[in-house]
Amino acid sequence: MFDALSERLESAWKKLRGQDRISHANIQEALKEVRRALLEADVNLQVIKDFIAQVETKAQGAEVIAGVRPDQQFIKIVYDELAVVMGETNAPLAHSATAPTIVLMAGLQGTGKTTAAAKLALHLRKENRSAMLVATDVYRPAAIDQLVTLGKQIEVPVFELGSDADPVEIARQGVERAKAEGIDTVIIDTAGRLQIDRDMMAELARIKQTVQPHEVLLVVDAMTGQEAANLTRTFHEQIGITGAILTKMDGDTRGGAALSVRQISGQPIKFIGTGEKVDALQPFYPDRLAQRILGMGDVLTLVEKAQEQIDFTDAQKMQEKILSAKFDFTDFLKQMRLMKNMGSFGGLLKMLPGMPKISDKQLQEAEVKLKQTEAMINSMTAEERRNPELLASSPSRRLRIGRGAGYKNDSEVTKLVADFQKMRNLMQQMGQGGLPGMPGMAGG
Ligand code: GDP
Repeated sequence: MFDALSERLESAWKKLRGQDRISHANIQEALKEVRRALLEADVNLQVIKDFIAQVETKAQGAEVIAGVRPDQQFIKIVYDELAVVMGETNAPLAHSATAPTIVLMAGLQGTGKTTAAAKLALHLRKENRSAMLVATDVYRPAAIDQLVTLGKQIEVPVFELGSDADPVEIARQGVERAKAEGIDTVIIDTAGRLQIDRDMMAELARIKQTVQPHEVLLVVDAMTGQEAANLTRTFHEQIGITGAILTKMDGDTRGGAALSVRQISGQPIKFIGTGEKVDALQPFYPDRLAQRILGMGDVLTLVEKAQEQIDFTDAQKMQEKILSAKFDFTDFLKQMRLMKNMGSFGGLLKMLPGMPKISDKQLQEAEVKLKQTEAMINSMTAEERRNPELLASSPSRRLRIGRGAGYKNDSEVTKLVADFQKMRNLMQQMGQGGLPGMPGMAGG
């Protein structure tokens, strides 16, 4: 999902790539792409406007972080803002101190409301909270049957009074029954219509008035895009919602709904539905969804770690050294230790966007190789570290170092010196900007 959005955003980053500053001009270019991406994802216009304004303010005020490319930094800003718009943390379901907790389900027909009610009951059961379902959709007898069938499947009792009773009365008695039976949470499924309809809203309002629920969850079909904003506004204004469940997130959705619901109502998305089966319900984590929307690998963690680890003057010194061919084994070791501080080699590689898939075996081999390299550098004298050419011209020095690092001969050291010289030449050719570091790292 969200392919369209992440593709658009990626092209926005591309405009920044290769530029070493976040400037007014390049932010405008990138923001234009973000705006277009959100439009294509069917996000509500007002939501987009607010979003862009926030990102712009933050991007312009952002300190340039040494060792982090501006496009990566921009991603982080957009990501942070996405998480803010969708609600920063997971909002759990209410749990009343006095049982039962009453949950009212609201939403249009076909959005997955009945399925979501059953999914929620199963979710609660797994958390050792007993549940009861209440069927109030008397206009469609099939809806009552559907709930009864689902209830059997998940072993949750379903309260119903057939299709002749008054929905408000069913809801009231359902709550009474739950209270009498000591049920933890009672979930009331309500009638939906194909469109927002005055009778439906009036009935929902009466049920709410009568049972005084702790939660009113609006069920929103994630496929509805721009419409989700109007739907959320109407339900929130007329009924008052406390949260939402976004269904059909497994489908080919472009994600506009996820951005709109919170922004319009100020209420969090609490769960997402990810399939037709009863167990396809997950708590909603805004930060995870924001990462998925960006679809860029874990650049964010990389930026955060770089912010912690890389000292600006240090990075500048390193850059000068690289440019002036003074990069030596001491610097090399420092870079390696920095990488270790930033997490395992494998973790770091996985964080870089656009990295080809690397197998765990390859990663292990790479880490072993790094350790061996460190052992060899540790066996060098200070003079040898400063002056790799000493090693290039002396087989006996190489043999001593090789033995120090646990090898029988000098072949590994010879290879290291050759690789190092090759790398240094390459660095000088690349010569400008970015994260100073090991070959294959970001930047350059
Ligand atoms: P209601 O009219 O709002 O009560 O909707 P239903 O619960 O009857 O669901 C309508 C259709 O959507 C059914 O075919 C469900 O199986 C399907 N559905 C519900 N939730 C999901 C979901 O998260 N993913 C997918 N793929 N289908 C869902």
